[in-house]
Amino acid sequence: MEQPHEVRFKGLGVSEGIVIGQVLRMHDGTRHVYHWRINIADLEAERRRFRAAVQLARQQVVAIKKQAEKRMGKDHAYIFDAHVLLLEDEKLTGDIERQITDEQANAEWAVEVVGDRLLSLYSEIKDEYLRERGSDIEDVMQRLLVALSGVQPRRRSLSEDAVIVSQDLLPSAVAELDLEHARALATDTGGWTSHTAILARGIGIPAVVGLRDLYRRTRTGDRIIVDSTRNEVILHPAPATLERYQAETASRMKPRSSGAVRESGPVRTVDGVEVRMRANVEVPAEFEGVEKFGAQGVGLYRSEFLLARRGVAVSEQEQQLAYEEVARVAGEDGVIIRLFDLGGENLREQFQEPEKNPALGLRAIRFGLRNEEVMRTQVRAILTAAENAKLKIVLPMVADVSDVRRAKTIITDEGNKLTEAGRGFGEVSIGAMIEVPSAVFMADNIARIVDFFELGTNDLVQYTLAVDRGNDEVADWFRTLHPAVLHSIDRSLKSAANAGIPAIVCGEMASTPAYAVLLIGLGATDLSMTPSAIPRVRRALAGIDSRDARVIAQDCLSCETADDVESIVRERFGKLWPDLFPPKNLPERRQTNSKTE
Ligand code: PEP
Ligand code: MG
Repeated sequence: MEQPHEVRFKGLGVSEGIVIGQVLRMHDGTRHVYHWRINIADLEAERRRFRAAVQLARQQVVAIKKQAEKRMGKDHAYIFDAHVLLLEDEKLTGDIERQITDEQANAEWAVEVVGDRLLSLYSEIKDEYLRERGSDIEDVMQRLLVALSGVQPRRRSLSEDAVIVSQDLLPSAVAELDLEHARALATDTGGWTSHTAILARGIGIPAVVGLRDLYRRTRTGDRIIVDSTRNEVILHPAPATLERYQAETASRMKPRSSGAVRESGPVRTVDGVEVRMRANVEVPAEFEGVEKFGAQGVGLYRSEFLLARRGVAVSEQEQQLAYEEVARVAGEDGVIIRLFDLGGENLREQFQEPEKNPALGLRAIRFGLRNEEVMRTQVRAILTAAENAKLKIVLPMVADVSDVRRAKTIITDEGNKLTEAGRGFGEVSIGAMIEVPSAVFMADNIARIVDFFELGTNDLVQYTLAVDRGNDEVADWFRTLHPAVLHSIDRSLKSAANAGIPAIVCGEMASTPAYAVLLIGLGATDLSMTPSAIPRVRRALAGIDSRDARVIAQDCLSCETADDVESIVRERFGKLWPDLFPPKNLPERRQTNSKTE
């Protein structure tokens, strides 16, 4: 067979590193099922093909369950039992076989028709728990379709060099991903702060996003190189390319293994300013990084991951156990649990009807206030876990004091109910995420009624600049160093300082050393980031004088454009701290019309 030609795809490297591996395609959930007519003589063969797919899918689920038990614990893994039961359900498989026979249809079509019929019945069920079971049916149908296609992605996921290729790695898919074996991620869509990017940095594997057409052009098993340092992915690399990369990855291996700074606790700048370094975590695969990289507790626990597989069916007690677990991981410094940030790009597909503008829709605190029972259950779980664990609550995406007041009323109310019921619980501090412009403008007011701020710079950039953080078409406009963003940060930090409350910067900005220095220059002294980024940010902050950073930050605040800020950072950082900031560690020069370029 003729060797396919090498093809290069340009994207955006969002998590550092180079990996040579094999493609493992992961479907994003959208199915393309075609109908074709089967001759009567071939119907029995088609039914046999379907039965074989059922067997294969069943084996896969059993294998996944075992892996999930290891990764997520028994509490979460039992959900796969429901999938096994569905695959063993004779009524369901019988209906699909009947559909094949009666309609003389291919098995894929029969699965789709019967699955959809069942799903529409489920969607009408009044009981919320049962209605949620619809997602299990979706999952099983999807697995059957994959099994019918002859591809076995989940089994392949055990290969040591799997590069996950997906159109868009949805959070719901993450729960099933074999994170221990995934070596790299490559997706058609996404940006620096998209979920895939955050996740990849969290588990410390390379990722390139925004590759447009990659998924369609790959097959599972294809050889692929993911090179985030050059913002590209090379499919079917030619022998010479492969050789060059093999040499390069071999020479890069060493600093990687010896590079982890094992220090912990706060870092001090040269002039003695202490900066707290906390960890952002979401999936259990990231937990070990908290201690390994010396984080002072968990500054942001993105709790919505808990709902990725089973939605709101995750009980109060299961949640409580999960919060206690993350508290154990965090130790003395404790955990800040963000109430479910659902909607927007997070688990939207499971929880909501499609919205025209999801980022501006029923997201985060709005979702919680509209679906009060979901929020109350989570609050109870946190309060109860807080009896023996150091936990705080942060409210995602509040717009102003009214969102905060409403949420606080619910939290107080649940505390009172627990008291009445004689149940033990702990008091928790309550903070607000500052991540939309209205919250920045009203920060003085919000600061008076909360215990702390968390600055979510990912969303702050998105909403301040009106740039979708996951849309690669507008990635050029996603400028973290835009003066408008810096002013928002400056204003929020000042509001916190005036009110005497702490402010933690927890967006991705904190995990980029040059940006972190600017944050210190703006007065931040508390950062939370992907655990694996802590050593490099620590190294940078330990080598700078915060007074220099302050002067530079002030100059940046008076800039007109992001280009202007970036060129100040490039020039001044390069001059003051050439060892810490060689050109490759500074923002790249862009080809835009700026007065300083
Ligand atoms: C942010 O918006 O910066 C943030 C920390 O939260 P997330 O990325 O989960 O929206
Ligand atoms: Mg956010």
